[in-house]
Amino acid sequence: MSSTPHDPATGARIIAQTLKKLGVLVVFGLVGVPVSDIAEQVIAIGIRFIGFRNEQAASYAATAYGYLTGTPGVCLVVGGPGVLHAIAGVGNASENNFPLLLLGGSIETHQVTKGAFQELDSVSLLTARTKHSVRPPNVESLPYIIANAYRCSFYGRPGAAFVDLPADIINDPLSPEELKDTKEVLTIPDAPRSGADNRGLNKVIALIKQAKAPLVLVGKGAAYARAEHSIRAFIEQTSIPFLPSPMGKGVVADSHPANASAARSTALKLADVVIILGARLNWIFHYGETPKWSSSAKFVQVDISPEEMGRNAGDAEYSLLGDVSVVVEQLLQLLGNWAYDQTRSDYVQNLELAKRKNGRVSSLAANDTSMPLTYHRVFDIIKRGLHLLSPPLEGGVCLIAEGANTMDISRSIFSFEHPRLRLDAGTYATMGVGLPYAIAAWEAYNAPNAKASSGPAKRKKIVAIEGDSAFGFSGMEVETMARMGMDILIFVVNNGGIYFGDSNTADDWTAKQEKTKRNEPGLRSWALGWEVRYQKLAEACGGLGFFVRTAEELEKATIAGFKATVPVIVNIIIQSGKMEKASFGWQVAPRRKTKAASL
Ligand code: ADP
Repeated sequence: MSSTPHDPATGARIIAQTLKKLGVLVVFGLVGVPVSDIAEQVIAIGIRFIGFRNEQAASYAATAYGYLTGTPGVCLVVGGPGVLHAIAGVGNASENNFPLLLLGGSIETHQVTKGAFQELDSVSLLTARTKHSVRPPNVESLPYIIANAYRCSFYGRPGAAFVDLPADIINDPLSPEELKDTKEVLTIPDAPRSGADNRGLNKVIALIKQAKAPLVLVGKGAAYARAEHSIRAFIEQTSIPFLPSPMGKGVVADSHPANASAARSTALKLADVVIILGARLNWIFHYGETPKWSSSAKFVQVDISPEEMGRNAGDAEYSLLGDVSVVVEQLLQLLGNWAYDQTRSDYVQNLELAKRKNGRVSSLAANDTSMPLTYHRVFDIIKRGLHLLSPPLEGGVCLIAEGANTMDISRSIFSFEHPRLRLDAGTYATMGVGLPYAIAAWEAYNAPNAKASSGPAKRKKIVAIEGDSAFGFSGMEVETMARMGMDILIFVVNNGGIYFGDSNTADDWTAKQEKTKRNEPGLRSWALGWEVRYQKLAEACGGLGFFVRTAEELEKATIAGFKATVPVIVNIIIQSGKMEKASFGWQVAPRRKTKAASL
């Protein structure tokens, strides 16, 4: 039986009290022996507990909550397989630089190495994959150990921290001596912030002032740092074109005239000085290398992490180490009222030409009336519906996009006026994050003790657009949404497969399936079920489902789904089997030698 606050004190209660003192408002997890008591104590003390259907999903949700709130997301799982599943979230947190505190149960200390229930040496496993991985030596040290792990996960470059919690430390009643010796938890203040050194700043100012084609890149590090005020002021003052990363969208409003997103390729090719604010020169920005970028472009990295400086095409000579908000304010002060003279080259003119040309192509694609529906048409209809019901300027929706084509194509169609409102598979291109991220976003923006904010309206409608493959990774979390009373709107963009499906018609698909059953070459590796009725999963859990084939049906379902007070799945059948080769739009390998290779 679970303990209550009136039972003798145990480690479980001390853990809950510690989390409360740290200001933790919600724990994401999946209970079992030996961590159930921690979850019960957490609930008893007034912290929300969201129980998932798989630890992987719980750990993903905690990472996104950390990103959206700027404080570590906490995830509680059982040992052995539970910790193994949650390592997915550890990888996701580390790669995206999101703060995560993972708490994992383990067997009683005296059973170690005996082949005990769910036995795993989690600390050894996680030491290499986290910023901090620790097992408390005794119950008295729990408050300090947990608070320290919590602190480590979000001080400096955010990432994952792990605390292994043996069953005896969790569940054994404390002796009066242990209770007396239990350390007091200190609250952990916000992470310290610092600016860059003057020498570096002056060099960068000189570089910016002589640039003919400057460009600002805005990444999710800037969104995480809540640097929107200083970056908006910087763009206003300097008039330098900017380009957000997929999750950096909204730090500066997408509608700002200096937004070069609609001329992305042209901006990358022409830029000669690139100021990177909380983003990395990884695959998302093509390593800063040719053929996407000019080989003579100079990159100024503004980042909290010194290890990032000089990576790929970055030049450590021009790097500015510090908190992006503080560094941008420093730059603004030094620039005074200097602004980029757009007549110095035909750069801005070329960007405008490219924007107009690309705009025409996009609007043709959005108006493609062929049936079954296309990605572009579907996203255009959803966008119109959502913008009508929740105008972006007034706060807009929080949108999660997941799935190769779904994420790639929708990225340029939905615009954002405020930060931290667009989440996707991120740096690790992790599939399966969509529904857990939606739950985290609901919790961050809409829970009774919601702590995230973006733009004027506090409450946000949470919308997830999922490829049918991506949806399958965590589809059962619809039940979590329904149980927790989360009115999340999910669109499954269903082309019957990974990337692009397999067949153009039901007959073709069935014929291939028959061959597969006979063990002959039939369905291809990326095939999924033909027109699977995913919406029924929502109905089965107490939500609403819509099965949609036409534009009119989609318009109606978008409005009804938005207004519903339960989770909704809108299952949209789109064209399948149209593309020939699996690829992801952004994955362009540099054709030339990298800087390191040419040394
Ligand atoms: P994106 O995927 O949007 O391009 P990345 O995740 O690649 O962005 O990069 C985010 C960067 O932001 C990381 O290098 C991280 O160290 C950095 N970062 C995180 N917080 C801060 C901060 N407060 N100030 C400066 N840089 C930060």
